[in-house]
Order: sequence, then structure tokens, then C-alpha cells
Amino acid sequence: MELREHIDELMPRARADLADLVAIRSVADPRQFPPAECERAANWVVDNFAQVGFTGLGLHETSDGSKAVFGVRPGTDPSAPTVLLYAHYDVQPPLDEKAWRTPPFELTTVNGRWYGRGAADCKGNIVMHLTALRALGPDVPVNLKLIVEGSEEQGTGGLEDFVTRNPDLLRADAILVCDTGNAAVGLPAATVTLRGLVNVVVEVQSLGGELHSGMFGGAAPDALAALIQILSTLRDRAGNTTIAGLENEQTWLGAPYPPIQFRADAGLIDEARLLGDGTVSDMIWARPAVTVLGIDCPPVVGSAAAIQPLARARLNLRVPPGTDAVKAQDALIAQLHAAAPWGVRVSVTPEALGQPFEARTGGPAYEALASAMRTAYGREMTTLGQGGSIPLCNVFADTYPDAEIVLMGVEEPQALIHAPNESVAPSEIANLALAEALFLQRYRR
Ligand SMILES: [Zn+2]
Repeated sequence: MELREHIDELMPRARADLADLVAIRSVADPRQFPPAECERAANWVVDNFAQVGFTGLGLHETSDGSKAVFGVRPGTDPSAPTVLLYAHYDVQPPLDEKAWRTPPFELTTVNGRWYGRGAADCKGNIVMHLTALRALGPDVPVNLKLIVEGSEEQGTGGLEDFVTRNPDLLRADAILVCDTGNAAVGLPAATVTLRGLVNVVVEVQSLGGELHSGMFGGAAPDALAALIQILSTLRDRAGNTTIAGLENEQTWLGAPYPPIQFRADAGLIDEARLLGDGTVSDMIWARPAVTVLGIDCPPVVGSAAAIQPLARARLNLRVPPGTDAVKAQDALIAQLHAAAPWGVRVSVTPEALGQPFEARTGGPAYEALASAMRTAYGREMTTLGQGGSIPLCNVFADTYPDAEIVLMGVEEPQALIHAPNESVAPSEIANLALAEALFLQRYRR
């Protein structure tokens, strides 16, 4: 098949491109890396997409100071739909440099995988887009728009704000958010749901000040013990999240997440059991999950024989599609108050809230993608969820309610994105570039 052969021929170039990009330390945090590095990455994207026919390419400053690359490429058929291609050129910092087995900013091949910070997230997806477009040459029927943002990993929302201020610029019939990955190498998947989140801080007060635990312990209400009691109501013995009024028995209808794989990915110790009554995919994609992120109380070293008057905890609640994050926040706050023992004073401060996301999967773009993946991989595309959130997807969905939003990319589980020793499978770049090229040929409104 001609397109696949063409992509195979383009793979040495894809590696060279990825090596160039990975060598640019585009961490969008001026405290850690010079902003000139992000500027270089942005200009690299401009130069390379100009080579595949994009015009009007330029850097657009966003509200957080980062610069997003935008450009357009009219299709050969003016009546064809418009597809917006998304990626980001900024990367996570390398974190613990000693934990890297290869230099983080030098693309290195080990056992057939390409290692380097951003090799998958998300520079591998930029190279995937380029490889697909090079393979297609001038013959792209659909109209293309490109947006490559520069501060995704910082969570500072520059592009989200840019989209709401420039809705016509980015308007499209289908949006390929290429910042996720397949179920595994060779197992094609679209990510169709993202959980939302609620963060709150709960504070418990019980006394005017610290008391000697020998003199007062037994009758004096202990704020830390009260907090522990309150937090213990948020899960049952099996580990299910139990918040009154919040459904916790949903099931995941897409691809299963094999428990053995999950145990390995999560690094469970041998004796530890997986949480909850559902399957792994039920628990991480379809049901709510509460996590205690931090507790303020005396640390072990330096602690005295004292009863604590005050204790605080920071909580994170992930909410699945179908659950309203505001209602979930209300239910969580109500339970934190209701569970308080001994008349202690409880106050809860909301910190952050993001709604869950669910892609509409019945339209022509999903149909074209499924057919393209089938051809590229020789097997059916499955659907995944993601436990985390991508706030930009909600902004796209709110701004373009008729657009089909597709989440896909080269970041399969082995890529270890955000961790040391991030890598990408070259076969994923090749197969997904082929799938993307076929999608752009086959997609019709
Ligand atoms: Zn990413």
C-alpha cells in the first residue's frame, strides 16, 4: 500500500525531526529554563508546518504569556469539512535527572524505543502530524487548521482563554486533540472520556490551644482524631469512594484495563489489593475517586505529647462523565460536615473545580477515524477513558458544540509520560501517522 510505504520511507526523517525537537528544552517555566527555548520550539513548529503547506503561520501570545502557533491549510475540496490539529510543544521538566538512564534532552534509541523528555508528550504527536502530512503531499481534501500551544504542562490555561477570545479562528468540524495514546503498542484507541475534579480543603477545630495528652486526653476533643474519623467515611472497607448522594456503581463499556497490567503500571507491592468492587476500568474511568492529597498536623519528628486543637486536609475528588462536578462538590462538603464527631467546628474551602468530559462518538469523524485505525493497525479501534482531566477539551466542547472532538496520539502506557525515561515507540508514530493520513482522506461531513 502506497501511503504506508511512503510513511516507512519518512521514518528516518521523523526521527531526525524528533531529535531536533527533544533537544530544545521547552519547559514553559522561566524559573527552570530560559523562555528562549520555548520560542525556539515554537519557531521550529512554524518552519516545519510551512514546509507542508500551512500559511498564515504565526505565534499568538496568550493570557499566561505563552505563545501558541496557529496556521491554516486550505483543502483541495472547498466544500470539505475543516479539521483542527492540536498538539503542544512545551514539555514537563526532566524531574530527577539521576533517574534518567539516557540524557533527557538527547533522543536516544534503546531496545527499539526512542527516549527523551517530550518524545511522546507531546513532541511525538507533532512529528506524527508532520509525517502524515508529508505522506499525503499536496493531496489533502479537508481544510486544515493547526494549533500548537506552549504551556499545556503548566496548567495555566493560556490556550483555553485564547479559544474563548478567538472562537472563529479555531472553529472546525472535527478537532484532533493529539495528546493521549493507544491502549498499548499496536492496540488502537480513542480516548472518549475524561474525569472532572473537585479540590477542597477541610479544616477541623476543637480546642482553644494544644493540651497535654496525659492530663486532658480521654475527654478533650482531638481535632486530628476528628479529621481522621471524617476522612474515613469517604471510603468503605473495599476502597469504594462513598459520598452520600454520589453514584459509585457505574461500569466502563470500552476497553478493559487488565488487572495484571494495572498492577505493574501502578507499581503495587505484592501483598496490596486493588481497590473497589468494580473492574480496574470501572474504578479509574467510570466511578468517582477521592484522594487525600495532604494533611496539616505535627510531623512525627518534633511531635509532643499534645492533643491537637486544629487539623486540615486537602482533598481531591475525581468525578466521571455523567456526574456534575458542582453537585459532587456539594455532596462532598455536606458529608464532611455531617461526618464530624463531638461537635467540632468544620469549615470547607473549595479550591478548584473542573467538569468531566465525554466525547460524542456517533458522528462522521469518529466513523472515519475507526475506519482509518482499522486499516492502519489491522484491528478494531477501542475506547479508553482517562482518569485525569484536559480542561481544554471542555472549552472546545463549550465553544464548538457541534464539533467532534477526538483524543488520540502516541502516548501509550509504556511511554511513561511526565516520569523520568519517557519514550515513544516508533511503530506508534508510523501507524498513527498512517491512520491520521487515512482519516484526512476519508473524513466527510
Ligand atoms: Zn501532553
